Amino acid sequence: MTTKTSYIAKSVENLKPSGIRRFFDLAANMEGVISLGVGEPDFITSWTVREAAILSLEQGFTSYTANAGLLELREKISGYMKNGYGAEYDPNTEIILTTGASQALDISMRAIIDPGDEVVVVEPGFVSYVPLVQLAGGTPVTVETKPENGFKLTAEELEEAITERTKAVLLCSPNNPTGTVLERENLEEIAEVIRRHDLVVLSDEIYSELAYDHGHVSIASLSGMRDRSIVINGFSKGFAMTGWRLGFICAPAEIAAPLLKIHQYAMMCASTPAQYAAVEALDKGMEEVMEMKRSYRHRRHYFVDSLNEMGLGCHLPGGAFYAFPSVAKTGLSSEEFAEKLLMEEKVAVVPGNVFGKGGEGHIRCSYASSMEQLQEAVKRMKRFVENHSGN
Ligand code: PMP
Repeated sequence: MTTKTSYIAKSVENLKPSGIRRFFDLAANMEGVISLGVGEPDFITSWTVREAAILSLEQGFTSYTANAGLLELREKISGYMKNGYGAEYDPNTEIILTTGASQALDISMRAIIDPGDEVVVVEPGFVSYVPLVQLAGGTPVTVETKPENGFKLTAEELEEAITERTKAVLLCSPNNPTGTVLERENLEEIAEVIRRHDLVVLSDEIYSELAYDHGHVSIASLSGMRDRSIVINGFSKGFAMTGWRLGFICAPAEIAAPLLKIHQYAMMCASTPAQYAAVEALDKGMEEVMEMKRSYRHRRHYFVDSLNEMGLGCHLPGGAFYAFPSVAKTGLSSEEFAEKLLMEEKVAVVPGNVFGKGGEGHIRCSYASSMEQLQEAVKRMKRFVENHSGN
């Protein structure tokens, strides 16, 4: 069909499709592939949590909840944020349940961005950030973090990206794809820049439960930051609940109220059975979260050591379940490495260039796979690197 005018909005036509998808599609048509590509836990949601959702359905709780979510769940989240991260939020006016952290990110951008506003996005970073800023009418300004700093954003790098049009800074710690954790001192330095320029911070803390070495620090808990922070978190990663599609936003009432306006029109409310499940997850699920964390930590050491041994230099990621090694040794680009590794050894990884600036020359491997799978993947990758070194 040829029409003079496209039915599709320019802002959408100009969006690039996610670079991760192409590799999933390639791998899906092959047999015997070990996938280190997907960004999700290899655990099934704990049984008590699943049972709570089943029980809620048996009891007939199948209606909408309040727009912001079940009050009982908001109260639990308020306790979780206070006890876990030292950040206090009023469950009545400052917490909103969303359809995953994904929707939380979307409505947060839409709530704060006016056309032409600049949002600083740290890269390598999660693939949704730049498109979501663009869809909200903003201009993403990307900052490249460096492997020699363990991909930690420095105050100087942030300062350089700020102009008089900057509205917000988007941070993610622990980070996808690098696994980098911003520790208290890093965050204090970054927070000082954000306060001095009077900016909003969108803090994606979806991997907060998976910070292995020093524990997670929420930027909202630092002095002078609560009132300018939108904290985004959820149940997908730490609680192994990706398919339930449940996330949340914590923000001061002045920001949460306009966010709720968008949420009530765009989404109405988050899924009701998922919310009942999440009440149970926060009540009785923490022990299992800790067990999963111990298991990831164990696999992290094995996998990152193995990458370094085969010559794919990799910093020890402080959190999440990703390793982000350099493939420089092979002389291949990220895309070439990922494609050849898939074709020759049937191991699926994600080429680093899809995560923006600074990603080229790296690959993202998720170690949320069984030890047996990881051991087999290491064997195949080692052989692949040997075959492609010294070209
Ligand atoms: N932020 C980051 C950094 C992520 O890695 C992901 C999931 N890959 C999300 C947000 C979205 O999470 P959710 O499943 O809660 O929508």
